[in-house]
Amino acid sequence: MSERYSQSSETFKKVEEIKKSDLSDNIKLVASKVLEDKPPSKAELVYLLGLKDSQERKSLFDLASCVRHDNVGDTIFVKGIIEFSNYCKRNCLYCGIRSSSKIERYRMTKDEILDIAIEMSNCGVDTIILQSGEDPFYTTEMIVDIIKSIRETTQRPVSLSIGERTVEELRIFKASGASKYLLKQETVNREIFEKVHGFDYDTRISLLKALVDLKYIAGGGNIIGLPDQTLSDIADDILFMREIGVRMAGIGPFIPTKGTPLEHYPIGSADLTLNAYACTRISIPLVQLPTTTALGTIDKNLQYKGFEAGCNVIMVNFTPDIYRKNYRIYDNKRKVEFYETINDLSKMNRRLTSLIEKAVLNQR
Ligand code: SAM
Repeated sequence: MSERYSQSSETFKKVEEIKKSDLSDNIKLVASKVLEDKPPSKAELVYLLGLKDSQERKSLFDLASCVRHDNVGDTIFVKGIIEFSNYCKRNCLYCGIRSSSKIERYRMTKDEILDIAIEMSNCGVDTIILQSGEDPFYTTEMIVDIIKSIRETTQRPVSLSIGERTVEELRIFKASGASKYLLKQETVNREIFEKVHGFDYDTRISLLKALVDLKYIAGGGNIIGLPDQTLSDIADDILFMREIGVRMAGIGPFIPTKGTPLEHYPIGSADLTLNAYACTRISIPLVQLPTTTALGTIDKNLQYKGFEAGCNVIMVNFTPDIYRKNYRIYDNKRKVEFYETINDLSKMNRRLTSLIEKAVLNQR
């Protein structure tokens, strides 16, 4: 047994229960390894990702929930996202805001962004996430100005999700007050990556590693259900994120989008996505793991189910409706609305941060 789990820990009790059950030897072996703080091997991850039996899946999810409880607690962190520009110089095959999409484009001004950041802060959100397509219109100086203004006005942590920038820019953004950066690897299968993105795999991976080196709370992540992707590829994604030391993982199913080259490709599996959440939690116990909007787009209740599979974060959307309708990265993208989410989570007896609870009480 490792120092991470004492005999009174939830994980210890769950592993003992699994060991005494009539579940498969594979699950029992993984559970014992969790207790020794040893991550599942690639073959074990492939097995777990492919689980279909409801009893085995429930045990995996329960184990992931215990690992979450013992490592990061059961508080659900509510992060707020502003999608401030849908201009994108990339042409990713799956994405609705790809450069060749014939959509109405918008860019928000610094003042518009700041007003929303203040609203988010008043709501008590844990982090202000600034997301956009890859839009060089926003120069280094402009992004720095936005980060500094939000930090000075709200004091909330700022997370960037603006695609690839140079390492020097990443360093400058960090020095200006951004503490988190999400740059999903999307898939570590080079062949699939290059096919769906058409840009350089090595650059993407080296930038994600640079974020870790720059001491960002760095976020990786993947899309579940890309063309030709196998369980082995998804296992590689989880192992990769663990190995390079990401502290956040954004994992969501592929959702087809009209007008893109993948519009007729099948939707990613929600069950596989949930299995991937549980596998990621037991592989990277301290990870910040959102249950993603893409999963909620398939079904809102599936998104909440992510909390039963080891997730501890949800991102709520603060993009004004006039812009949000054009931030259509995939079809029927769910609007994860702040008060609806908080009320749902409260009904489910999920623990929220005191800042959120205070803001909700003030609202009543
Ligand atoms: N441009 C930034 C970047 O590349 O990191 C951030 C914006 S990008 C639209 C945010 C995420 O949307 C991507 O990392 C990708 O995983 C996800 N995404 C885009 N289209 C999707 C689709 N059709 N299905 C599922 N996820 C999708």
